[in-house]
Amino acid sequence: MTKTVDAFDFHCHIDLFPDPVGTIAACEIKRLFTLAVTTTPKAWAQNRRWTEGRHYIHAALGLHPELAGERYDEITLLEQLMPDARFVGEIGLDGSSKYWNSWLIQKSIFIRVLETAQRLGGRVASIHSRRAAREVLACLAEHTTPQRVLPILHWFSDTVSLTRQAVEQGCYFSINHRMLSSRSGAAVVEGIPADRILIETDAPFTGNTESKNQWRDVMSIANQLAKCRGVQVDMMLAQLATNAECVLHFAGVSF
Ligand code: MN
Repeated sequence: MTKTVDAFDFHCHIDLFPDPVGTIAACEIKRLFTLAVTTTPKAWAQNRRWTEGRHYIHAALGLHPELAGERYDEITLLEQLMPDARFVGEIGLDGSSKYWNSWLIQKSIFIRVLETAQRLGGRVASIHSRRAAREVLACLAEHTTPQRVLPILHWFSDTVSLTRQAVEQGCYFSINHRMLSSRSGAAVVEGIPADRILIETDAPFTGNTESKNQWRDVMSIANQLAKCRGVQVDMMLAQLATNAECVLHFAGVSF
């Protein structure tokens, strides 16, 4: 990759910002690679239109586990659209009590998406695993191989030992500032090998709804990460760029 990308945000809900078009324009100007995840397959067409011909924004096709209960029938649409989407997300499982009643539906959707991604190959998936990390890793192990599906665990907040297991299974991790602000989150981040770390803002769910903050937030997370891992910021940024390049290469994207 030639050095034309200045920074990377691997999980951002641009379509939930007050001004998605302005945000996308800002990413292009800042040369900020952004993975624009979606929460329902119906949102994909709009995101696709917004991001078409853009260099730095890539839309991901998803069905958020929190919406699985009410949006179950959209899984068919998602499967139909998958051949056009190298990036998949937000998908995953949520084991919080609030979503227990949709647990079996969530699992069924997640497995169907993983099986489709595995069949197509070259897919990068941004995965939600709140209170469900063990199940997410079990589904990945059962339905995908690292040669065909590259998982990025987004806002991973489980134990250090499950972090290790995820690393062994080939997962990458996208880190946001909320993870770095708790002691347990920082312990997880410290346990991730340097070559598996990526950055995400998960905006607007992490508190920001303004496009002008996205660049500042990515840089601030890079600074926090460098501090947490005891390396120079320049080295951290270089490592993050190398990691991003590996992930994008897997999806067939080059700059
Ligand atoms: Mn998200």
